[in-house]
Amino acid sequence: MQTASRVVVVVFDGLRPDMVTQDRMPNLASFAGDSLWFREARSVFPSMTRVATSSISTGAPPVVHGIVGNNFYYPDVTRDFVLDTSLAEDVALAESRLSGPLIAAETLGDRLAAHEKSFAVVHSGSAGSTYAINPRAAANGHWTFSVMGRDATRTPNAVDEMVERFGPLPPRTLPRFEETDYVTRVFSEHVLGEMDPDVALIWFNEPDTSFHYKFLASDETGAIMTAVDAAFGRILTAIRERPDADGIAIIVASDHGQISSSGVADIATLLAEAGHKVARASSRAIHGADISVTGGNMGEIRMVDGDMERRDQIARWLMQRDEIGMVFTPSDDPVRGAVEGTLSTALVGLDHARQPELVYVLRSGTETDAHGLPGLGLITGGVPVGGGMHGGLNRHELNTVLILGGAAHSGPARSTQAPSGVIDIAPTVLDLLGIAAPASMCGASLMSRQARDHAAHLEVFDAGFGAFRQRLGVVRRGQHLFPVHGGRVD
Ligand SMILES: [Zn+2]
Repeated sequence: MQTASRVVVVVFDGLRPDMVTQDRMPNLASFAGDSLWFREARSVFPSMTRVATSSISTGAPPVVHGIVGNNFYYPDVTRDFVLDTSLAEDVALAESRLSGPLIAAETLGDRLAAHEKSFAVVHSGSAGSTYAINPRAAANGHWTFSVMGRDATRTPNAVDEMVERFGPLPPRTLPRFEETDYVTRVFSEHVLGEMDPDVALIWFNEPDTSFHYKFLASDETGAIMTAVDAAFGRILTAIRERPDADGIAIIVASDHGQISSSGVADIATLLAEAGHKVARASSRAIHGADISVTGGNMGEIRMVDGDMERRDQIARWLMQRDEIGMVFTPSDDPVRGAVEGTLSTALVGLDHARQPELVYVLRSGTETDAHGLPGLGLITGGVPVGGGMHGGLNRHELNTVLILGGAAHSGPARSTQAPSGVIDIAPTVLDLLGIAAPASMCGASLMSRQARDHAAHLEVFDAGFGAFRQRLGVVRRGQHLFPVHGGRVD
């Protein structure tokens, strides 16, 4: 049954639900106060933007969509460097070498197109993130605008049209005030004001960018949070001014949270010092290396030379180091990894054919940062110490914003602890429009009472080797496990 005439999805990259307060984001907090808020919504693992974006578009974890990291070694595409899924040229290379899509699973956009529904996206993230939200936008007859320019979208005419209407694309500054303003104008005035798509989605690159480089709760980050919240207010006004406002469902979401960094543990350098020939993902050159390593606050370690004894040795070496929080390896077992003491990648939905042989997560905890926010952990680098990071399994990285309002929720405002997450967004949008989700979508429609009221029971899995002990908490809904919090146990 169709319950909404149209659906508007607003995504704030990296936004933590505990930062949605009257003080910081009054428009969003007021909206939440009239809506249905899934307080325990979860990202996927790794809790990174392109991984989570692919989970939003496919309604499924990485085991289904195959984007197993923001960067990952993918020898079927190239053995020369680690694929960077943010880059248009790397996505194009993958599609050319695979003679097919990088994200093969059916997406929200594909399903909408099959039902002759229009879908407009306004994006301020990387080319790869813009691609992942509707990989076949052009073939689907959809419209995707990127504030990053023509090369960052598969429908470059959208950029040409908007530049003609709203003027040159804005300069890139930090915080991203100008980009926030530009995409809000495109979305409110053009998409909602004139285009009238069945589904409209806007993706704000803030507060994620400022969390990373200006710290989570700093004054500068507070200013951009005020700005994106005001942008949300403008979007709500544009919706309410429409004659069909009552039929429009509104979903507000984030792709992951963030935690603050407390120090650096440069795993690639430590591995090199331990005698391995290491290629860092950022070097864009693998030639001659034994292993390739990605970073952030977690990463993959690939055996470029295929030496699995080396893999086992590195896994044990990691578990002996104080900086390490968790270690995963592929396994036929749903819980235990192939190397004693590690957990199975299947436990976190990462067991796609493209999965790495070894995954590490740096140590993190729920201690408070310099501004009093809980969530603190080590990073390999990439942002100043104190800056935010995400990718791992800390509850403050995993917990996402997920709020249903407008025509998606009737009756009094409420919040629910039901298991839910980014994988539920696509099935919910489809259900709102009366369209069945494909079987590949593991997510559920949050319009169903069953999903809204599903009781959450925490299940805990432990593993250890020597003095190393790690623990992952999950909640189950049907066949799917939502990761809740993971880390080292002291
Ligand atoms: Zn993100």
